[in-house]
Amino acid sequence: PSPPQQEEEFIFRSKLPDIQIPTHLPLHSYCFQNLSQFHNRPCLINGDTGETLTYSDVHLTVRKIAAGLNSTLGINQGDVIMLVLRNSHQFALTFLGASYRGAVVTTANPFYTSSELAKQATATKTKLIVTQSAYINKINEFAKINKIKIVCTDSSPASSSDEESVVHFSVLTNADEKDAPEVKISPNDVVALPFSSGTSGLPKGVMLTHENLVTTIAQLVDGENPHQYTKYEDVLLCVLPMFHIYALNSILLSGIRSGAAVLIVEKFEITTLLELIDKYKVTVVSFVPPIVLALVKSGESNRYDLSCIRAMITGAAPMGVELEQAVKDRLPQAILGQGYGMTEAGPLSISMSFAKEAMGTKPGACGTVVRNAEMKIVDTETGHSLPRNKPGEICIRGTKVMKGYLNDPEATKRTIDKDGWLHTGDIGLIDDDDELFIVDRLKELIKYKGYQVAPAELEALLISHPNISDAAVVPLKDEAAGEVPVAFVVRSNGSKITEDEIKQYISKQVVFYKRINIVFFVDTIPKAASGKILRKELTARLNEGLVV
Ligand code: ATP
Ligand code: MG
Repeated sequence: PSPPQQEEEFIFRSKLPDIQIPTHLPLHSYCFQNLSQFHNRPCLINGDTGETLTYSDVHLTVRKIAAGLNSTLGINQGDVIMLVLRNSHQFALTFLGASYRGAVVTTANPFYTSSELAKQATATKTKLIVTQSAYINKINEFAKINKIKIVCTDSSPASSSDEESVVHFSVLTNADEKDAPEVKISPNDVVALPFSSGTSGLPKGVMLTHENLVTTIAQLVDGENPHQYTKYEDVLLCVLPMFHIYALNSILLSGIRSGAAVLIVEKFEITTLLELIDKYKVTVVSFVPPIVLALVKSGESNRYDLSCIRAMITGAAPMGVELEQAVKDRLPQAILGQGYGMTEAGPLSISMSFAKEAMGTKPGACGTVVRNAEMKIVDTETGHSLPRNKPGEICIRGTKVMKGYLNDPEATKRTIDKDGWLHTGDIGLIDDDDELFIVDRLKELIKYKGYQVAPAELEALLISHPNISDAAVVPLKDEAAGEVPVAFVVRSNGSKITEDEIKQYISKQVVFYKRINIVFFVDTIPKAASGKILRKELTARLNEGLVV
């Protein structure tokens, strides 16, 4: 008998040819590989103070930090360092210095509570925490119990014996770079341990290797015709949190690889941000939908000269075509497009409009799969891969895919199958022009009888209304339909829009089963620091009967 016929697989690849990626290099060597071409150019700019470090400053400081970590603080290869820092020079310098030392960096949200930070420190077996004085109180106690050393980046070490375990950042930056240890790093060594956003449950620790990060950066900015063409004259805005993969990978490390200047902004405030964009003549902005929403809704953007922006990239959460059009009207000179990515695999797709040889793209698309990777769309019921224009779960394969989840081989096995495909949990389709359209997260689709309703689609319609400044949609259990969509809405300043007006506005635009059943008016929509709507929090509120 003939062997069983191999099932046909529909695999999608980039429109750009694969390139040679130097995955044998450790991350820091890769980032600084082209240093000689731009060593006197600005590398990091502090948006608040204007303090600027050139590429040679950064390269030198990074080696000093590697030496200090080793000789002064006793950090060994493979040890974990936790960063509890706002966006800052020190964040970038310590991250690269740790890579140089062969250590691993886990990045934490500095707004976390003491117990959240303690949990992450324990799970990652953190040896050293680098933080700033504002957060010392949250850290001191558990650090002492677990013998974790603390480095503080701002105020000098307190003289009180109580804080003798806290040393100042200068112990690292004053070390002699000649003492930087020789380290043999393998591409499969973990270098970063960021945590996912926790949109669907608890945040997961993600083990990223040198090879993973080198691949994800190269996929964006390397090659004759890079996906995300970045020149060394570019000024890249980094206002998104550096502890999240988007800013870490696609702004900071990609920026350094390409010799651009990275403008580091500590906190997001729309007016200050617009001022800074104008002042530093920012050329490339990387945003998330809530920032785009603020830009469009605040009206402030008309008061600033934003003509310096040549490209605006958004990602991390769904953005509807209505919002995309609205921001296009504000920034007519800029190329606009989306990227789609995740902590576990970096950018999966990016708009071809950012390539050196740019191609036009459709509104609402999340780009085309990046080079040196494979993408497929699978039927969530049968597991078979699907042809074009059929929605299913997006899967990705390649050296970009994480080593696994920290301390959770079971979750790793559920996510990366035996053939190396990472299952994203996101539903999308690829059209005739290779463009990826994301529907929503598989687990967040609302099931009305047999029909599927994507919250993201309704949210996009809601925020396109001038009297609505923000919105989120979640399912409510319903006897007849199983689930029905309900909306949480933030009214625009001074607006008196009613529940009925909102329901009608939506029902005029959608098929019957997507109609909104109830509207709850709220002051804010809960969002993760990475810009995602925390629908699970709203669902919990509904289930606990906390809303009327
Ligand atoms: P957790 O895995 O802990 O639930 P998370 O998935 O939100 O959290 P991240 O790794 O920060 O954590 O985010 C990746 C997810 O963000 C993707 O799986 C996808 O759902 C969403 N996402 C990213 N970019 C886009 C985009 N352009 N459009 C729609 N969704 C996006
Ligand atoms: Mg996720």
